[in-house]
Amino acid sequence: MIFTVAIDGPAAAGKGTISRAVARRFGFAHLDTGLLYRAVGAKGGDPVTAAQSLGAPDLERGDLRSLSAGQAASKVAVIPAVRAALVVFQQRFARAPGGAVLDGRDIGTVICPEAEVKLYVTATAQVRAHRRWLEVGGDEAQVLHEVRERDARDMGRAEAPLKAAADALVIDTSDLTIEAAIEQACAIVQHRLAEMGA
Ligand code: C5P
Repeated sequence: MIFTVAIDGPAAAGKGTISRAVARRFGFAHLDTGLLYRAVGAKGGDPVTAAQSLGAPDLERGDLRSLSAGQAASKVAVIPAVRAALVVFQQRFARAPGGAVLDGRDIGTVICPEAEVKLYVTATAQVRAHRRWLEVGGDEAQVLHEVRERDARDMGRAEAPLKAAADALVIDTSDLTIEAAIEQACAIVQHRLAEMGA
């Protein structure tokens, strides 16, 4: 069965947790596409060469989850040739038999517009910054500043900007527990699978 769940949204909205939970519940493979851009940013040197030569060890670095790696990722992610180098891998993953969940910024709009389920997971910038701050500590106002900066870069870029696909269902996690958000996402996937007779 080919079945893609595309989950897009801004940083720290809960996409990753929801994606992992959906993949586990339905036995689908999961790809965190942000990790690809983080690895390109962290590799240093020419970003296009880094994207073209990305390998498994690059994705296993321990420092990819930091705030600075997120900022570096969003800087290389504006480069069209970097995005182009990562498209085929993501599309193969999305359409491999057995079902796949991909989370990112442009999965439902660019990578897999034919996805069977498209979700747009969001929350207010304040709520997202607070969650990130609980994880990383430091100055909360600075974390909010960085979240806003990254939103502006991701939404404002010319190539594959962050936006909800016209047919995406929106889950706003600002006032939801993570469990409730996961249940909403799983119910949507279940409904679509039933519609397809799977
Ligand atoms: O999701 P995550 O915070 O790990 O993504 C890091 C950065 O990578 C994002 O801020 C965005 O600039 C970029 N990205 C992207 N397209 C994706 C996934 C991530 O441009 N599909």
